[in-house]
Amino acid sequence: MSEHSSNNAQKDEQKNDFIRNIIRDDVKAQKYPQIVTRFPPEPNGYLHLGHVKSICLNFGVAEEFGGVCNLRFDDTNPTAEKQDYIDNIKNDVKWLGFEWAGEAHHASGYFDQLYAWAVQLIEQGDAYVDLQSPEQIKENRGSFNEAGTPSPHRDASVEENLTLFNDMKEGKFAEGKAVLRAKIDMASPNMNMRDPVIYRVMHQEHHQTGDKWCIYPMYDFAHPLSDALEGITHSLCTLEFEDHRPFYDWAVEKIGFDVPPHQYEFSRLNVDHTMTSKRKLKQLVDENIVSGWDDPRMPTIAGMRRRGYTPEGLRDFCERVGVTKVDSVVDFRLLEFSIRQSLETTTARGMAVLKPLKVTITNFAEAVSSWEAQKADSVNARWDDDAQTLWLTQPNHPNVDMGEREIPFTETLYIDQGDYEIEPPAGYKRLSPEKPEIRLRNTYVLAVTEYILDESGNVVELKATIDPATLGNNPEGRKVKGVIHWVSASQGVPATVRMYEQLFSVEDPSSVADVHQALNPNSLTELDAVVEPSLANAAAGTRFQFEREGYFIADTADHSSDKPVFNQIVSLRDSYKPA
Ligand code: ATP
Ligand code: MG
Repeated sequence: MSEHSSNNAQKDEQKNDFIRNIIRDDVKAQKYPQIVTRFPPEPNGYLHLGHVKSICLNFGVAEEFGGVCNLRFDDTNPTAEKQDYIDNIKNDVKWLGFEWAGEAHHASGYFDQLYAWAVQLIEQGDAYVDLQSPEQIKENRGSFNEAGTPSPHRDASVEENLTLFNDMKEGKFAEGKAVLRAKIDMASPNMNMRDPVIYRVMHQEHHQTGDKWCIYPMYDFAHPLSDALEGITHSLCTLEFEDHRPFYDWAVEKIGFDVPPHQYEFSRLNVDHTMTSKRKLKQLVDENIVSGWDDPRMPTIAGMRRRGYTPEGLRDFCERVGVTKVDSVVDFRLLEFSIRQSLETTTARGMAVLKPLKVTITNFAEAVSSWEAQKADSVNARWDDDAQTLWLTQPNHPNVDMGEREIPFTETLYIDQGDYEIEPPAGYKRLSPEKPEIRLRNTYVLAVTEYILDESGNVVELKATIDPATLGNNPEGRKVKGVIHWVSASQGVPATVRMYEQLFSVEDPSSVADVHQALNPNSLTELDAVVEPSLANAAAGTRFQFEREGYFIADTADHSSDKPVFNQIVSLRDSYKPA
């Protein structure tokens, strides 16, 4: 089996995850007219890699089973939420390639209904207003080994509770002076069932509802009922909500839905050297440790997009990770593998010299004067006498049709500093005084005749000759090993190239109390590189494979043809292979 088809087989197998199996059975049993899922972010930050998994799962299963997926902002906590976050979350979901059903929903859009349902619970004797202080409530919840103590307000009459809840709504209570609690079981072994708070007072404007409300539902109350209201069939969330499921079921049962939604929990995505917590990522932004939510080092969708990661690569990664109930840490190299794979056949090639070393071709005019007579048939070129430039036409991709470009070949070039060593290590295959000859990609064979050192003994320039008979032809009477890339010094364009390492130097940055201690000081290096003109002229957001160097993207914020800026997406190869 080829590597490609075995990878696909593996992917298909992973699509038999427990959630898809449940849904497949429900579809077979015609349990619902249609499968409806939802992705419910709280708009208190930008989405991150962890959310990508949730998005791919929720939108993915809806698509696969002919259903729909809603986008719902779980905006029950106005203090941390902003419209800017909402706009960016929408952007990110679309960029990943998914479409939500109809308009985006907001939990805040259901505040009237949720209030009415809270009143219904009071009327049923299933909720009461508690006037204990937050400290008392906490203390009276008991502990794992010890039952809680019922509130003195627990058995107040329905009328009293209706009045008090109305007073809460009318703003007659300061924050912390009154809450509405579900009346369930103060002795439940599940702490979430010990009369959880379902409404609280917050004298706070809301980004959607303005100053209409001074009481807000708790997430645990709003979530199941929003699901029920939207006709969600499968409410997929992460494992930490498992203990909340009994309350989820309690709420939808007490309100009385004919077809209640069901919550299913899967394990969070954790990736080593990465952080998936909006709160902690916000700290990096607020403290200017990174340049913003879209800093290319950030594991946010905005950051990964600017870094050059592809939606296809991210979706492939999620498929490979799969969906289980087992907590684990995924190797970040799997993510890089998926990204790299998505770029192989979709990016044009180009030459960029990241650490330039000047090379002067001492026989340039003389050698190039005979280029037409000596070139191989396969070579397509033209001579520009004014610019003293030989323009070489080359395909943009070796085996995918992506058009052609002209590459300028001139008397002075740059090659990479790493391609010439005075004292090469064992097995070195590029240029050195002992091995002066090498093929320049797409053009002649070059022979170094002299190296020039600066005061500290660094090579600062090479003098060389080209063999006029080698334009597209093998040299005669000898074998020349190795091919290196190069860029014309006179026609190439200076460019900033940003090289990245992991933002964090520790495997689990979330475990480090002070985030500063977890940072990798080498996460960003800016290089003064030189690129061939076709790269400089590319539109911002264009991805390339820089020959021998890796995959890069013209930065969407800073790139222009006068001042090109490229971000490294991922290296060309890695010994890592997915299991
Ligand atoms: P954060 O702690 O970063 O704020 P969250 O879970 O509080 O994450 P929400 O906006 O509430 O963020 O999450 C929206 C959805 O994304 C939820 O269903 C949540 O379970 C899911 N999600 C969040 N983080 C991850 C993760 N690391 N892996 C998988 N799903 C996740
Ligand atoms: Mg949250």
